[in-house]
Amino acid sequence: MADCIFCRIVSGEIPATIVARTPDAVAFRDLNPQAPTHVLVVPTKHLAGITDADDDEGERILGRTIRLAIQVGKSLGLSEGGYRLVMNQGNDGGQSVFHLHVHLLGGRRLTWPPG
Ligand code: AMP
Repeated sequence: MADCIFCRIVSGEIPATIVARTPDAVAFRDLNPQAPTHVLVVPTKHLAGITDADDDEGERILGRTIRLAIQVGKSLGLSEGGYRLVMNQGNDGGQSVFHLHVHLLGGRRLTWPPG
């Protein structure tokens, strides 16, 4: 989508610090990190949010997006200490960019419950 900031990062039209890429998903550093490691993993195909992923293709996209998040967690050395994957959905969920994404947060002890 032309006016979607994450689509424009996926296409390389606007810069981001890319951490990893597969044909299905791209991982890049969050511009406003909430933890020492804060990476966003987004599918290359535009879906506005997780509620748009309730079909077979969405299941495949979610699986591959989360799998890349797992691989990035490993490659950045977070697997042993632990980390958190977060997906915000809609306004009440705190979603501000309407292209499905997974936050990978780690590098410090995260509190629970989230605010
Ligand atoms: P959410 O609030 O779950 O929709 O998360 C959106 C995230 O995107 C926020 O953590 C922002 O800091 C991050 N963000 C917005 N624009 C950019 C950008 N151009 N590059 C990297 N991260 C971004």
